[in-house]
Amino acid sequence: MKKIFIYILILITSCFIIPAIFSKSANKTAETLNTNNVENTIEKEDNTCKEKTEKGEEISIKLLHEKTGETEEVNLEEYLCNVVSAEMPVSFELEALKAQAIVARTYTIFKMENKKHENADICDSSKCCQAWVSKEERFKRWEDGKKEENWIKISKAVDETKGKIITYNNKPINAFFHSNSGGKTELPVNVWGGNNYPYLQVIETSGENEYKQFLSELELSNEELLDKLKVKYGDININFEDDNDIKILEFTESGRVRTIKMGNHNISGVELRNILNLKSNNFEIEKKDGKIKFKVKGYGHGVGMSQTGADSLAKQGKNAEEIIKHFYKNIEIKNVSQIL
Ligand SMILES: [Zn+2]
Repeated sequence: MKKIFIYILILITSCFIIPAIFSKSANKTAETLNTNNVENTIEKEDNTCKEKTEKGEEISIKLLHEKTGETEEVNLEEYLCNVVSAEMPVSFELEALKAQAIVARTYTIFKMENKKHENADICDSSKCCQAWVSKEERFKRWEDGKKEENWIKISKAVDETKGKIITYNNKPINAFFHSNSGGKTELPVNVWGGNNYPYLQVIETSGENEYKQFLSELELSNEELLDKLKVKYGDININFEDDNDIKILEFTESGRVRTIKMGNHNISGVELRNILNLKSNNFEIEKKDGKIKFKVKGYGHGVGMSQTGADSLAKQGKNAEEIIKHFYKNIEIKNVSQIL
């Protein structure tokens, strides 16, 4: 009887307790592995944005924070993670983000050699140099559960293009970029005057219309339009009854408005864009019932790489270097260490 009791006890032990011990230890192993994975990933992610640019030669830049006026010395590759995450939606294709990283790196090196600020290489304002956002701020704006994954994607875009810049005649190009070209990019002379660059031409890109940045509208009453124009042109006088008193006079090579007649003034499309805060100077006008409607195509000045265009090309299977070569002509992609 006693023996039977002992056998039952052994049976219970072998059926329940031993597997429980093993399974607990197996879970623990899995937990340890997972923890290691997370640690490895975080370690990788942290290192990715801090690695030296080329053969131990670390490039650091002086970054001016526009709001505080403080200047900070930062590693170039680390800085680029903050720039790419500020300049392009993380939801864009990896190859588009990589193209953005190459463009942002080129833009930064160009600015280092052509300084705009007295005590800094570049500032963190998108209106002046290029956008920058701290990792903490960026994380606050990303949805929960996606933050680490997003940062790893950004880091990958910077890391996989490490040191790469766009050159013309062995010098970094002035790598302008913008949000959406509206289908065609613009020549720099039509936006800022001065010279054209052999690498910046009118480039057509398909698929730009798939993005929300492609079309926008602004509707103003005749009085609102006059009020806005009066700030710059005090003597402006428009006869709204006369269809020819508001009229586009000339288009640029890319189809944007070069000059528009506004009553007694001929105004450039770029200037009107600034006055009315239009998304671009690629627009049509519609006059109706005491109102004027601007139907605008594209977003930004239109010069250089279009970001939504880059994403569209990536979706069509183009890689980062192919995207770069689509938007910038006669260029070479080199390592920054070959230039500096
Ligand atoms: Zn600046």
